[in-house]
Amino acid sequence: MARYTGIMRRTARALSSAVVLVAICGCRGRVPQPADGCAPTQCGDAGDDDNEVANVGVPDLDVVVGEDELNRALPSNVVLFIGDGMGAEQQRATRMFKNGDAAPLTFEAFPHAGCVHTANASGGVTDSAAAATAMATGHKVDNHVISQRTPGDGRELPTVVEIAHARGKSTGLVTTATPLTDATPAAFGAHASTRYDDASIANGYLQRSRPAVLMGGPSASMTAGAAADAGYATASSSDELDAIGAAAAAPLCGIFDGAEPSLAERTRAALEELLADEDGFFLLVEHEGTDNGGHANDLAMIIDAVLALEAAVDTALALTDAADTLIIVTADHETGSLTVHDASPEAGAVPEHSFGTTGHSGADVPIFATGPGAEAVGGCFQNTRIFSLLTATR
Ligand SMILES: [Zn+2]
Repeated sequence: MARYTGIMRRTARALSSAVVLVAICGCRGRVPQPADGCAPTQCGDAGDDDNEVANVGVPDLDVVVGEDELNRALPSNVVLFIGDGMGAEQQRATRMFKNGDAAPLTFEAFPHAGCVHTANASGGVTDSAAAATAMATGHKVDNHVISQRTPGDGRELPTVVEIAHARGKSTGLVTTATPLTDATPAAFGAHASTRYDDASIANGYLQRSRPAVLMGGPSASMTAGAAADAGYATASSSDELDAIGAAAAAPLCGIFDGAEPSLAERTRAALEELLADEDGFFLLVEHEGTDNGGHANDLAMIIDAVLALEAAVDTALALTDAADTLIIVTADHETGSLTVHDASPEAGAVPEHSFGTTGHSGADVPIFATGPGAEAVGGCFQNTRIFSLLTATR
């Protein structure tokens, strides 16, 4: 972290006059191409600390820019949407249901897109913990591990949330998952040797990383009472969330035991709080229903979840400024090995389809981006590079 931050600060200081060459590259002193497929050991788990972040695929900026242009090129705010288990076929099925495949989903029309390799540290099919850790820290780890260097010495890996806080930004973790301590948000807001260490992850949120916004379902340790004891304003229903209002003085924790408020409503409340920070923010928004539907081989459930995710993306587009906010939509992995084979899709009908598994698959997942910094998305790349996209901020 120190080295990368230092590079950016030194670069900014060097921009005293008109033009400068900025060349920031990823894997160990060479300039990686977007599809170079760096092995996990090259891109994710480089050895010494000084090189730690510089090695994990910092965006391949190789451009001549002036100061104004550099400032424009880096976002102040980043919103990362994750459809857990949402592959390309899950999106295609949703388009068919929504409009007969006549038009893209909102985020599919973003100007920059690519595909993400999701394998875990050993090259196997990932779980949500390893995939989220790759995005949150730039390191491939074993399944079940939450932002610790495993394989390796088990040290805690700096997360996007911690890096944002070090830059004076606010952060938020929003999910439909029960519990809120589920693997995807956990990797951004905590460290644990296993995703099932609910107490450690809840403690990581409430006592250590302390995001300004936390929303999701309850668990034994992640309760409204625990959040209130830690100084959070709490809400457990849509009405209570509305009553707290925008820009609450205290950090905000919503513990919702059910589908309401919707992901779009949660996103709106989170953004109203985070937009008050002039230093910017990082916000994670996850829909878990795409994964649950994949495990259940229930395409209708998946479509509901993708549509809810799209509505949350629409909310973020409406509330944020495209000039300073990078919005990324992707998945941690694909679930279900879904194949859609409906030659004549009809709006409102679940298309013909088949599932190949009730588990996760190793399929690449799509990524879409819009806003400053989005142009760094292109081609196919390792999930560790998403960390670089999320931390290339001003
Ligand atoms: Zn899953």
